[in-house]
Amino acid sequence: MPAPDPHAAELADRAEDAFRAEFGADPAGSWAAPGRVNLIGEHTDYNEGFVMPFALPFYAVAAAAESETWEFHSTYRGGSTVRTDTLDGVTGWAAYLAGIAWAMNEAGYPVRPTRIALHSDVPHGAGLSSSAAMECAALLALADLYGHDIDRGLAARIARRAENEYVGAPTGILDQSASLLCEEGRAMFMDCRDLSRDQVPFELEAEGLTMLVVDTNAPHRHADGEYAARRADCEEAARLLGVEFLRDAPDDASLEDDRLNRRLRHIVTENRRVLETVKALKETGASGIGDLLTASHVSMRDDYEISCAELDSAVDAALGAGALGARMTGGGFGGSAIALVEATSAQKVEAAVTDAAAEKNLPTPRVFKARAAQGAHRVR
Ligand code: ADP
Ligand code: MG
Repeated sequence: MPAPDPHAAELADRAEDAFRAEFGADPAGSWAAPGRVNLIGEHTDYNEGFVMPFALPFYAVAAAAESETWEFHSTYRGGSTVRTDTLDGVTGWAAYLAGIAWAMNEAGYPVRPTRIALHSDVPHGAGLSSSAAMECAALLALADLYGHDIDRGLAARIARRAENEYVGAPTGILDQSASLLCEEGRAMFMDCRDLSRDQVPFELEAEGLTMLVVDTNAPHRHADGEYAARRADCEEAARLLGVEFLRDAPDDASLEDDRLNRRLRHIVTENRRVLETVKALKETGASGIGDLLTASHVSMRDDYEISCAELDSAVDAALGAGALGARMTGGGFGGSAIALVEATSAQKVEAAVTDAAAEKNLPTPRVFKARAAQGAHRVR
């Protein structure tokens, strides 16, 4: 086990302070789980295909201890507390935590009433998986408090079930597995069929490269409905091809219906691009993956139709300013884009992205540098 991330330890101080202030007692420990970006492999998870996330150095930290009743506190939005005797029907932000307790009980890992104080610096609603970060921090906390040694792949499935069935958000397995399984300095190739993984070295600094993440601050559009529509398209395409999941579609498969054919083409080519990214990273390093990232964006923009003006603007401006590759990341219709750049041109690319948004009267994006950080871990 690597030493806890020093930044996660700082966040844990804040979570523990909040715990003491809110509950007037000391927590039994603190557990951190990161947000993520997906390097490549988008909308492939629910098609049982390939993904390649890495953990961001932003964490949700849960300070927790056993209690008489369920008490959930978060420092976000000025602080908010939810108290409940039962796990039935908790709504709003606390549903992500109550859902974890519920899903652990369902999975045969019983938990008892607990106090949790959460402090997170994962930007929320930016497509960087703040929801999975808080779920996974809570899951590790409850597992440790009640003596359950849960395999991390199974833990990801339990957390996904919490988000799907308790919160009611129909996400794939990508976010929770990224938060729980990613490793520092690695991008994680994962086969979403069996959760088998290959931790591929991803140390950009050593190569003179930087990964910029651009949170577009785009307003929330109908992302949930569009997400459901893409899933339905994939299911229909698979049915027409006679396969259970598009992961199994042959490389030369095609469909008469133009829309379904483009959805199919995105999934088939995206899975291939993930495999090529792994190969390129191993053979030439990150400098060899730029074109794959950009091709992935074009496929999402034209075939899968999940991009938007803000994301296209960020990607085009980054490429125009010399980025090696750029793409939207996450579910689409807003959220964040990533751009792989020479470290020496990071500032120029950041300025180009910001200027392009201003010229088009789009929201001002927030740009930051990402590195591959640690997956979820106990802080203390
Ligand atoms: P993403 O996971 O991409 O950030 P989601 O819509 O899946 O976006 O999750 C965002 C939701 O997660 C927020 O609306 C809120 O309910 C919850 N959330 C995220 N961070 C926190 C936090 N620090 N405290 C409480 N709730 C949070
Ligand atoms: Mg989420």
